[in-house]
Amino acid sequence: MTAEGNGSIKVIDSHSVHKITSGQVVIDLQTAVKELVENSLDAGATSIEVRFKDYGLKSVEVIDNGSGIAPEDYDSVGLKHHTSKLASFEDLSTVLTFGFRGEALSSLCALSEAVTVTTATASEAPMGTILELDRNGRVKSRSEKTARQRGTTVAITGLFRPLPVRRKELERNAKREFGKALNLLSAYALVPCAKENKGVRLTVSNQPEVGRKTVQLRTDGTPSTRASISSLWGPRSLENLVDLDLCFQVQTEKSVLKRRTITEGEDSGTQVRVRGLVSKFAVGCGRAATDRQFFYINGRPCNPSKVQKAFNEVYRTFNATQSPFIVADFILPTNTCDINVSPDKRTIFLHSENNLVAGLKVSCILRSILHLIFYAIFISKSSRNRSRPPGVRLM
Ligand code: ADP
Ligand code: MG
Repeated sequence: MTAEGNGSIKVIDSHSVHKITSGQVVIDLQTAVKELVENSLDAGATSIEVRFKDYGLKSVEVIDNGSGIAPEDYDSVGLKHHTSKLASFEDLSTVLTFGFRGEALSSLCALSEAVTVTTATASEAPMGTILELDRNGRVKSRSEKTARQRGTTVAITGLFRPLPVRRKELERNAKREFGKALNLLSAYALVPCAKENKGVRLTVSNQPEVGRKTVQLRTDGTPSTRASISSLWGPRSLENLVDLDLCFQVQTEKSVLKRRTITEGEDSGTQVRVRGLVSKFAVGCGRAATDRQFFYINGRPCNPSKVQKAFNEVYRTFNATQSPFIVADFILPTNTCDINVSPDKRTIFLHSENNLVAGLKVSCILRSILHLIFYAIFISKSSRNRSRPPGVRLM
């Protein structure tokens, strides 16, 4: 084909279409791993182990103790748009699972040398089945009866081998890409794996080409974000943090009201709650960089850049030289945001984002001022009563 093409419009063959669209779903090592971990969480796993070999260049394996895959679903697990989680477009506004498009496994099949699924449901355990999927996500071999407790193991070998340019990029930046994957896995460890009602044990290890396997990250399954922070970075990292619990009303923006054909008077706005942890404002309690800032919308990790900017701006009015550690989960009605924006689902569209950011800033500033007042009262009291033992530090 010439650079200009030959002028006539032709349909792209289905194999190429599959490769092109798959490349948008799984864009790098971190999204590949994220998709597998999300599947394990969706399957109700309470234990997830991620094993990288050679920083993910050789393989990535995710082992869970979730529901397993039923034999009648074997043929569809790797097929595009085959999912057990969503049946119609209307369901999208209420979906609570991480996955809903049935694209991850099919994309990983198109973009890897090999994909193997080993699985057992409760009724089949302790025996399981090994499925080898081909590039099109079809089951190319099935070997019955391997020892397997309830759950699923998905192993991806030779990620991006079918796309030579992307593979080269991955090899060139292997350690950096691995670091990004660890950071995203930390985001999952902090909130999705630390939900109040159900903790998930997450273990991440790497086996380098030479040398010993090392554990990179581990949580013990305690259902609390504080426990996860302590497991990831040590108990001392909690000393400089305070709980974040904000609640504010967001006015719906005019453009959204117009779409819903509601007038401003009829709109009561949306209640937003933000839960998590943030660095204390006192100088020395923040971090040198913005490296540990984790955002979620209804427990789904995402990158809301305007929200992140707002947090940093407010923090710097109190502590000009540092950046805060942040874990912030925004809890809002599912019909006020759209999770189906980018193929990798890392971008979430907030319908009234500007008003939300404004409300957040006001709420953060008020809370910070309240803390400063408490702190000032505490300091003046403790200077009057020096015999009082230290230990209670608000900020
Ligand atoms: P989606 O998550 O959007 O449904 P995927 O391609 O990620 O699409 O997965 C396809 C289907 O395979 C899922 O809907 C689910 O039924 C099944 N599946 C994938 N991974 C697992 C797992 N670890 N445990 C149980 N079922 C799984
Ligand atoms: Mg999925």
